[in-house]
Amino acid sequence: MRHLLLAVLCAASLAAQNPFTPGNAPFISVDAPVIALEHVRVIDGTGAAPVEDQTIVISGGRIQFVGAAAKASIPAGARRMDLSNRTVIPGLVGMHEHLFYPSGAGIPLYIEQGMSFPRLYLASGITTARTAGTLEPYTDLNLKKMIDAGRMPGPKMLITVGYLEGPGSFAPQMPELKDAEDARRFVEYWASQGAHSFKAYMHVTRAELGAAITEAHARHLTVTGHLCSVGFREAAALGIDNLEHGLIEDTEFNPRKQPDVCPQSSPLDWDVNGEAVQTTIRDLVSHKVAVTSTLAVFENAPPLEARFIDALSPTAALNYMVARDRSGEQGRARSEMRIKKELEFERAFVKAGGLLMFGCDPTGNGSALAGFGDQRNLELLVSGGFTPVEAIQIASLNGAKFLGMADKIGSIAEGKQADLVVIDGNPARQIADVKKVEIVFKDGVGYDPAKLILSVRGAVGLH
Ligand SMILES: [Zn+2]
Repeated sequence: MRHLLLAVLCAASLAAQNPFTPGNAPFISVDAPVIALEHVRVIDGTGAAPVEDQTIVISGGRIQFVGAAAKASIPAGARRMDLSNRTVIPGLVGMHEHLFYPSGAGIPLYIEQGMSFPRLYLASGITTARTAGTLEPYTDLNLKKMIDAGRMPGPKMLITVGYLEGPGSFAPQMPELKDAEDARRFVEYWASQGAHSFKAYMHVTRAELGAAITEAHARHLTVTGHLCSVGFREAAALGIDNLEHGLIEDTEFNPRKQPDVCPQSSPLDWDVNGEAVQTTIRDLVSHKVAVTSTLAVFENAPPLEARFIDALSPTAALNYMVARDRSGEQGRARSEMRIKKELEFERAFVKAGGLLMFGCDPTGNGSALAGFGDQRNLELLVSGGFTPVEAIQIASLNGAKFLGMADKIGSIAEGKQADLVVIDGNPARQIADVKKVEIVFKDGVGYDPAKLILSVRGAVGLH
């Protein structure tokens, strides 16, 4: 009896402390009508070299001034912050984010992380998150509204509904489209519910993909895909806007590929300088198909960080460590080879004028956690030969351009929204410094990443 009473009391107090109700206030560290970030190094997101000793004035949620600290006229009454030795980069635009995480233990179910992931994205400097597929469309759409209404912290969200998937999926949470008309109705319905874009998956047919693209484009919405049954050039011809993960997921170099069928596995023996790959690259560039780089999800044993384990629930941490161990030396070598191969493609794609963007994709064996995985991607891009400022551009302005929002976000320029990440270090010298986030400004309001991360300690895996 006493236990029952205690349980009821606990449930009552939990309800009173609904983590959605305190809103943003507990996590805000800087909030003033006018804010001056003085003496900072600016990496503006355009690919330009860093500029030292700058001042950024934020007013009414926008960047009012950016320029030499010596020339800045700071309005009276501004909250002045001397941020010497810090670097300011644009708020990052994550293009392959999800609000779910694998349940672990080899079970192909994914659990919605509606409380923890928005906080981790924001804490890691992601101020705009385009999701790239959802298994709970209503939850994602409602969470977006809650964030926009200030009821919970998180990035600005653009919800991609999917999966446009056919029979044969490994994941029982995904829909099974019957035909092209079914795909069209799927897009019609979810567009009416507020979907920003759509995601096609590994067993979609060309007819279904084509119907979905036509229906989405008629509503000025976009379609992206993690494809297998449909090749990259086929998808480009059908009018797809974006391809996820990159060329290591393209099945068109597999000589055994059958139309509309996802082959068991495809060899990665293509040569990035060979005619076949160069033709694909030219085709993607001429059709203006953007590619999202998601290197971190291919890594099954990245360097283990305390903040990562701390964020996981005890069960999730145990499941993860077992999965990580099980992949072994062979798994590690294979993931390194795949990342190297993909980076060769990404360099060539950018060189050819292709639009490369970045995103986390917190799936795989669980190594790429929301936000932390985005930061890891920056490190991996630099390991593959991009300069730090190029990697930051891929992670900011390029996504904004794709979204048609480059006049508002994606780089540090006067008049743009004050989405800014203050870093205690210099990522131009050492890209790993992007993890040293001190303040994240979203529309001119500064959030404390440490508080956001602390608030989800032990929560990933649960919610
Ligand atoms: Zn994904």
